[in-house]
Amino acid sequence: MEKSVPNLVIPPELKPKDLRFGSGPSKIRATQLAALVASNPGYLGTSHRQKTVRDVVKSLREGLSQLFNLPEGYEVVIGNGGTTAFWDAAIFSLMKDNAQFLSFGEFSNKFAVAAKAAPFLKNIDIIKSEPGDAPDYKPSDEFDVYASAHNETSTGVMKEVKRPSNKGLHLIDATSAAGGAMVDPKEFDVYYFAPQKSFGSDGGFFTALMSPQAIERIAEIKTSGRWIPPFLDLSIALENSRLQQTYNTPALATIHMFENQVSWFNQQGGLAWSSNKSKQSSDHLYNWAIDREFTKPFVERPELRSNVVAVIDFIESIDAIQISNILRANGIVDTDSYRKFGKNQIRIGVFPSVELSDVQALTNCIDWIVGNL
Ligand SMILES: *Cc1c(COP(=O)(O)O)cnc(C)c1O
Repeated sequence: MEKSVPNLVIPPELKPKDLRFGSGPSKIRATQLAALVASNPGYLGTSHRQKTVRDVVKSLREGLSQLFNLPEGYEVVIGNGGTTAFWDAAIFSLMKDNAQFLSFGEFSNKFAVAAKAAPFLKNIDIIKSEPGDAPDYKPSDEFDVYASAHNETSTGVMKEVKRPSNKGLHLIDATSAAGGAMVDPKEFDVYYFAPQKSFGSDGGFFTALMSPQAIERIAEIKTSGRWIPPFLDLSIALENSRLQQTYNTPALATIHMFENQVSWFNQQGGLAWSSNKSKQSSDHLYNWAIDREFTKPFVERPELRSNVVAVIDFIESIDAIQISNILRANGIVDTDSYRKFGKNQIRIGVFPSVELSDVQALTNCIDWIVGNL
């Protein structure tokens, strides 16, 4: 049976202006929505193969190249299905025989398990660590792919992107990190994500920043004769991306809001600006948690604490689920810990759209709840 939520009404003056703290889907700024509304009529409800939409896609792809400072020869590949679809596409179009995976939470583990099940791959080596920590690669010449997440969203662990070896492609799941954390493109071959986290848009769309080596690998596997379902064939995604379109119909609103966010980041000062915005918010949360008797950061090693998703442990005598439920009853949503985890903690998404003043208001609200329980 669900426990009942104590009827605590948080004083309105304590509450954040924006009440969304989810780790994805996450806050969408009013400006993004206003721009979408202003594009009507003309954009929504028109063909994705025509200039109006393709110009927005072009601006999105160029804006991402600028934001991530992509070296010559890197390309922005887009398609439908979000990150989970991209995992399968990567298995078909980027992995030859043997791959090593770092698994340190739900998301990084899902990709590793999916690859392990692919009948055409040989050795899938999975290196695991306990939740809240992150493992290291053990490079070996046999691997043609290394795969990790930049930010493990389920645990709030962020692992710096560093190439394990000069041989083998380096694939990084940046679904929650991209836009909220610094990265050097020379350290990856594929940095892929979906726009419902730092980019404050909707899900169901994937973006992959690819090095020339990754693009070569796609061609090499394609010519090898492996059967690849067209929807998951990255050579088809690449061909369409170069024409500023997707293989099949995309959600046009998603693309518009995504483009708006990338332009905003670039206008404000690029990735250094957007990632610093997240860092200020997460620093506030970790410092708050350390200062209180009843909380502490879940991730023990400070260098692994995420910029964008802060997970905070509560002492046993306080039920974190109850805290999240009381916040939700007051309109403050999605502070719950990762659903399958079952730990006594909250998880706060502090992507660049979230204002530091709102994060400060959130911790004030939690202090108030704990004081009034
Ligand atoms: C959210 C998330 C995913 C899942 O993304 P979908 O677009 O829902 O498939 C995968 N990996 C990480 C690290 C995520 O944060």
